[in-house]
Amino acid sequence: MIYLDNNATTPVDPVALDSMLPFLRDDFANPSGAYTFARHIRPALDTAHQQIAALLGCDPSEVVITSGGTESDTTAILSATHTHPNRKHLVSCATEHPAVLAPIERLVHDHGYESTIVGVCPDGRIDLDALREAVRPGQTALVSLMWANNETGVIHPLLEAAEIAAAAGALFHTDAVQAAGKIPLALRDNPAIHFLSISGHKIHAPKGVGALYVSRNTRFRPLIEGGGQENNRRSGTENVAGIVALGAAARQALNHLEANQSGCDPIAALRDRFESRVRSELDGVHVNGSPTDRTPNTSSLRFDHLEAEGLIILMDKAGLCCSAGSACHAGALKPSAILTAMGLDPAAARSTLRFSLSRFTTPADIAAAADIVVNAARKLRSLRPSGSRVLPAS
Ligand code: PLP
Repeated sequence: MIYLDNNATTPVDPVALDSMLPFLRDDFANPSGAYTFARHIRPALDTAHQQIAALLGCDPSEVVITSGGTESDTTAILSATHTHPNRKHLVSCATEHPAVLAPIERLVHDHGYESTIVGVCPDGRIDLDALREAVRPGQTALVSLMWANNETGVIHPLLEAAEIAAAAGALFHTDAVQAAGKIPLALRDNPAIHFLSISGHKIHAPKGVGALYVSRNTRFRPLIEGGGQENNRRSGTENVAGIVALGAAARQALNHLEANQSGCDPIAALRDRFESRVRSELDGVHVNGSPTDRTPNTSSLRFDHLEAEGLIILMDKAGLCCSAGSACHAGALKPSAILTAMGLDPAAARSTLRFSLSRFTTPADIAAAADIVVNAARKLRSLRPSGSRVLPAS
């Protein structure tokens, strides 16, 4: 099997797996216990906070462990609205993940908030002029803009966006679930970012653990209250093994970033090799979104006159895992809201595949994946009645 769906989830790094196993076997105590057996768990949790903080470029006290990206996003949005009760306006972007858009929609429908969802340019990056017009000084509580997109890998001009929010006195949150471990984040240098979300299972830690950065000067209200764990910021008995593994995975991700900071990321080199092989052997294959401002591991490719659904079936049979730029709702393929927000028509969005690599992807994987994609596309094109076109959705 060749796995090129790392934006959906990643395999657990063996180093992270080894780090967590002792806490699932012998060291199973509740870290809040008063006896020695329990007290020696605490340093492992502290180390994990330090490792995560090192990846984010912040202080360990600014890291709140959560159950993943979705919880981190909701926590940031609800904290901002609770701590700024007189500000009833929220701003986000059309290509955000539902983990951001759904809680905003809930606030609009159930709690009288207004929201402005800003569009993107054809390259997938937020329209900064539209963002400037959207923020309302004195009224906007929060601007939430992802750092990098899950389908295209496109990286937003995040720091400019955070400055625009700051000029209106609004808090700024970024969903960095698809950016963490792939590009440097350096939060210490970016005081206009108040909240940042990451997810363990996108950086080779297990599922069900993540973190929220809350900058030290930002007022915070927990989403989950109870026993006061995480310095009273997220209650619930700690997922010790998961947290330790997240720390180890963050350390591994930072090692990768540091080793490649001066040259070309080897993951990007493999991704580029994959794209150039597919595009040189097939006509009518296009990269969606900015070819330069994107994460090193992501390739969103559009195949003229082909449906992603058919390609996926053929590629799956040949042992290649990747995903379509569309979501399956009740059996019907809905074109991706991200791609249509970038101006693609529904047929073009439905002819898109996302290939996402990781540092465990090998040159042999890429060579085999390119063969499989080229063969599948040729086969489908040969079956297509000449002159027929993919019809737009009705
Ligand atoms: N945000 C983005 C951009 C994502 O890609 C995902 C997962 O696909 C999430 C949030 C949700 O993260 P989690 O699965 O950890 O809840």
